[in-house]
Amino acid sequence: MNSQISLIEKIDALLPQTQCGLCGHRDGCLPYAKSISEGEDANKCIPGGQPVADALAALLNRTSMTAEASVWPVQSDGRPQRMKAVIREDECIGCTKCISACPVDAIIGSGKLMHSILTDQCTGCELCIPPCPVDCIDLIEDTLSVPDESLRIQEQNDLRKRYYAHIQREEKRRINRKGPVVRADIDTDLFSLFSSQSSAVPVIQLADKPDHATVTMDAKTTIELAKIRTQIKKLEKQLSVRTDQKKQLQLDELQRQLDIVQGGSV
Ligand code: SF4
Ligand code: SF4
Ligand code: SF4
Repeated sequence: MNSQISLIEKIDALLPQTQCGLCGHRDGCLPYAKSISEGEDANKCIPGGQPVADALAALLNRTSMTAEASVWPVQSDGRPQRMKAVIREDECIGCTKCISACPVDAIIGSGKLMHSILTDQCTGCELCIPPCPVDCIDLIEDTLSVPDESLRIQEQNDLRKRYYAHIQREEKRRINRKGPVVRADIDTDLFSLFSSQSSAVPVIQLADKPDHATVTMDAKTTIELAKIRTQIKKLEKQLSVRTDQKKQLQLDELQRQLDIVQGGSV
């Protein structure tokens, strides 16, 4: 297990940490790193482009493959053009949906107030764009010079830490059901396990249930809880892609049942 964690860590170190999900792993770079370690093709990181596909092939002693194409032109380091998001602030209604969607916490603002993007923290991952109900977020080219290798690694390390902090916050929020859930379902077990074995990232503690709900559960209750959580995860995943009133009602009912089984407030 430790050798697999170490391989995943090496693969993850080569990935850009944009956490955009364009490789098909909607909850970020680490799940893709894990899947590569288990045999998935290593050419699917869109922001990484050909340099990352080549570096992964060298690390894994595999034949290099052509990187999957980006919609953006290639910049001087062989990677796709870096982008940044900007909010047209006079149109923002302060709904806060973009905050939860941003994997690196680059958006500031609170309920019913205008929101802003911290440009130097934004990776241009585009994840804040679909949840915005008034379509007031634009993508623009990053005009700063392309970072050299050492600056890029520094940036990646910082983004990784920010994503772990984001996951920890979202985990608590998900369990306590506060605010809209607009991100893909995150494999928190994987992130928690990885973070507990790596000194490079903050440890993620899983919140199985609210702290106040100290309940002694028998096996039947445990199975019941697991079943409800699985159904909830499934529906949340579907609803994060497309809104559906019927599914939303099912989700609300399941969340109510979960509260009852956990002994928390309804
Ligand atoms: S940067 Fe995006 S596409 Fe590349 S590995 Fe990370 S999540 Fe996947
Ligand atoms: S502000 Fe938007 S585009 Fe920028 S990192 Fe956050 S979610 Fe991605
Ligand atoms: S999702 Fe759009 S409207 Fe809502 S706070 Fe963010 S930028 Fe403003």
